[in-house]
Amino acid sequence: MSRLGGIEAGGTKFVLAVGTASGEILARHSLPTDRPEDTLPKVADWFDSQGPLAALGIASFGPVDLDPSSSRWGYITDTPKPGWSQCDLAGFFARRWGVPIGFDTDVNAAALAEATFAGLEAGTLAYVTVGTGIGGGLVINGQPVHGAAHPEMGHLYPRRPKEDLSFAGVCPYHGDCLEGLASGPAIRARWGMPLSDLPPDHEAHQVIAEYLAQLCHILFATNAVGTVVLGGGVMKTPGLLARVQDRAKALDAHYLPGRSRHVIRSPGLKEDAGAVGALLLGQRALARLTP
Ligand code: ZN
Repeated sequence: MSRLGGIEAGGTKFVLAVGTASGEILARHSLPTDRPEDTLPKVADWFDSQGPLAALGIASFGPVDLDPSSSRWGYITDTPKPGWSQCDLAGFFARRWGVPIGFDTDVNAAALAEATFAGLEAGTLAYVTVGTGIGGGLVINGQPVHGAAHPEMGHLYPRRPKEDLSFAGVCPYHGDCLEGLASGPAIRARWGMPLSDLPPDHEAHQVIAEYLAQLCHILFATNAVGTVVLGGGVMKTPGLLARVQDRAKALDAHYLPGRSRHVIRSPGLKEDAGAVGALLLGQRALARLTP
């Protein structure tokens, strides 16, 4: 069976995996995200120590260029992360090994992995990470969604509950977008600590659940997804998932036709969704299903 490489390129660390087309991880490694000229050769050296690869999948933090007709396909575009703007991530490895490379956002890859391992190969699923930022990936009819670019569902504007009208939000672009209101830094900015450290009866729990439930409702209503997977550090807060589930039901108000099939859950692949997604991107590149 072909040995595939998978890279989950995150803003704080790179997770590397060697695995199979079925998403089984045979070896893994991680290293901190420094500047690209330091990080990428170390990534390549680790894969070289594992033996030859048939293909590589890269699941990257964004924003990234996913347009196969673009001369900058496979690049990280404009990011505040020092050194990474206009980084030719896919090209670096293509030049080194000459193998097929699959490339997508970390969250689209995680959505692909969660859909595949839930037996939803032709299904429709969203994966949302709620942590330092809020990002979401979308798989529709088995395919990660690319349109004018990739989804950026952390930056929509939610309806604000009356308990939370005075906070300006922390998004440098939008202020009170979803990420500006419900990410880890947004929680810390108005309540001084992580959500998981606040007592269970603190109003913050219901406020954050409200915002995330609105996102789930938007995904159910606009994309007819069946499953929304909620991952990331903030979602580890005890009781938060149940609050989001309850609130999303209330927001639906017995209306959407697919509501009996709506599921909001934690990642089935736990911390491996991104790395397994990267392997699946590699498999798809090998099969020439995607550029
Ligand atoms: Zn924003």
